[in-house]
Amino acid sequence: MTTITEAVDDYSLKKITLEQLTAVIKESHPSAWVTLAERDPQHPEGDNNSRNRFIYNPYHHPKGQFFQNVIKKAIMKAIDFAHGAMLKKYDKDVFVYGDPRLKKLDEFVKQYTQENFKDTPYKIDFMNKITDIALGLAKEDIYYRARMFDMMNRFAFMYPIYKLTELELENVNRIRMTSYYCEKCKMQHDGYPTKMMHIDDKFMYTC
Ligand SMILES: [Zn+2]
Repeated sequence: MTTITEAVDDYSLKKITLEQLTAVIKESHPSAWVTLAERDPQHPEGDNNSRNRFIYNPYHHPKGQFFQNVIKKAIMKAIDFAHGAMLKKYDKDVFVYGDPRLKKLDEFVKQYTQENFKDTPYKIDFMNKITDIALGLAKEDIYYRARMFDMMNRFAFMYPIYKLTELELENVNRIRMTSYYCEKCKMQHDGYPTKMMHIDDKFMYTC
């Protein structure tokens, strides 16, 4: 049986058609909805600017679905494995920090994650595990720790401000919102919107 990885490779080499690729994806993801075959025309090949949306639609395009359903899941599995192994098979205190620099960094990132990833619980778990792995590695290995702090100092010195684009700011603030005006229901709702549109330089929200 062809795996999705092989099928996507074959498709990009034009060995199989979109219909054949669709059939392979549908085999393992029966609910997949594969209709759009186009790369986002905003970002043609060679354009490596930060994307405001994925170049391949994550729901409609086979590569987008591959990114969502296969690549992201593989990353999470690898993170889960490394995190569990460090904790259970190496040192039960591997993610406990006596070093005030690591302690502060851990507290800061965890609190930030709690507040800014709260729309999806699995993202909080994912971010916390990545933080643990990076900081646990820094605690354990002076080589990585020294270079991590040195790099952070140099970076903060050279690039004191990260300016977010308007859409990036909106993306962050969307989750921090406690209520919003819904364009669909024409009333204020509690919580955060599920849909956002950027029309005529205005942001519109719906439930
Ligand atoms: Zn509504």
